[in-house]
Amino acid sequence: MPIATINPATGETVKSYDELTEEEIDRRLAAAATTFATYRRTTFAERAAWMRAAAAILDDEVDHVAAMMTTEMGKTLAAARQEVQKCAKACRYYAEHAEGYLKDEPADAEATGALRAWVTYQPMGPVLAVMPWNFPLWQAMRFAAPALMAGNVGLLKHASNVPQTALYMQHLFERAGFPSGAFQTLLIGSKKVEAVLKDRRVVAATLTGSGPAGSSVAATAGSQIKKTVLELGGSDPFIVMPSADLERAAEVATTARLLNNGQSCINAKRFIVHEDVYDEFQRRFVEAMSAQVVGDPMEDGTDVGPLASEQQLHDVSELVDDAAGKGASVLCGGKPLGGQGWYYPPTVLADVTPAMRVHLEEVFGPVATLYRVRDIDEAVELANATEFGLGANVWTDDESERERFLADIEAGMLFFNGNTTSYPELPFGGIKSSGYGRELSFHGIKEFCNAKTVWVGKGSASTSE
Ligand code: NAP
Repeated sequence: MPIATINPATGETVKSYDELTEEEIDRRLAAAATTFATYRRTTFAERAAWMRAAAAILDDEVDHVAAMMTTEMGKTLAAARQEVQKCAKACRYYAEHAEGYLKDEPADAEATGALRAWVTYQPMGPVLAVMPWNFPLWQAMRFAAPALMAGNVGLLKHASNVPQTALYMQHLFERAGFPSGAFQTLLIGSKKVEAVLKDRRVVAATLTGSGPAGSSVAATAGSQIKKTVLELGGSDPFIVMPSADLERAAEVATTARLLNNGQSCINAKRFIVHEDVYDEFQRRFVEAMSAQVVGDPMEDGTDVGPLASEQQLHDVSELVDDAAGKGASVLCGGKPLGGQGWYYPPTVLADVTPAMRVHLEEVFGPVATLYRVRDIDEAVELANATEFGLGANVWTDDESERERFLADIEAGMLFFNGNTTSYPELPFGGIKSSGYGRELSFHGIKEFCNAKTVWVGKGSASTSE
């Protein structure tokens, strides 16, 4: 895959980049290792000042960065602006909370015969982050902000179609005052990841992306006994029970499916609706999906922009054609718009069966599958009938139903009566084939820390075991 910005709204190649040479990669890894030796000793106050400066730069440059992301991967300008603001918020969040999250934790000295015992959190070293294009700034930032605040240094291998955003990240942290080498972008293709991860100067890796990419990076890291965090795909259920506010559920369902032009890991993808409210939900949902404005992502008033690449358009079309060919009802959309750019309209499929690929695979585009279920047992069973376990969205006002879903839904995140989304304050991550480990909140910052146990004996009388 070329390292290039190709505008999805036009198909035009805007800017191409050469991949780094072996020597250039080596220089960056050396800089990461050298910088870590001193950066790890900087204080939380110093890092927080730099992180707040990064947030201020993002605030100042929101329009420029948003336009850059929209040009690289097609999200609407309004969504891109929100993404930049969210990144600034995450920078400030970790600037404020990192020190408290990583403070020493007292342990039971008495039980272990110690004078004192505690756990202290220390940075691990240079961490490689392999990131996807769908939230080009946010995905990288939710790794970078906690990692840098913990005293680690970062190496970003971003998706090949968002090189400008990738380079911007490095430039941002340098201008904010972080030492040069604390956060570096590696413009490399995926084939070079293995060698970088095997390099002894890289101590751990995080990958957000598809299952095959995650599995490959985890295998390499495993062969080197290096820690990984994996944030992979999802096929989140959106369950609607009769007690729900149907009007609100149908409205949020549309946003939940179409956020980021339908290309988010936590988009609701499978809509599982109780038979008592199915017909009414379907009517409202299809009406709302059909009313979305698809078009130029730079224009105010556009709801859904193009898919990020020609390959994406091909993959989504293939999944819908497969379902339609096997008897699914196409309630709206169902064919690429044609003409310039990689546009696919909001699409709703009903009468979906397990023989169809959309039933099992993640559809990374604005396509919803609708299912009618008889009761809560069938809803839970269908929700869990997937290899994924990222988020889940459930609409019910019944407390006992909530308890049942809470107990039995297989997901890393469960949202009731509201859209699944990420917040710096809440841990984010999945189970099953959606990955492992957590980003954000205090869970995220501890992933790449050495939780070092410290035990101090009582002097000559101390025991050792
Ligand atoms: P992808 O093809 O897996 O690419 C993600 C990153 O991995 C890119 O930087 C890519 O580099 C790299 N990569 C691909 N194959 C690799 C390999 N064998 N070894 C090492 N690196 C490799 O995924 P995508 O199409 O960009 O993103 C969509 C997927 O990401 C969806 O499945 C989505 O659900 C998932 N996602 C998950 C989360 C989450 O938090 N759970 C968030 C966002 C997206 P190149 O670009 O150079 O190929």
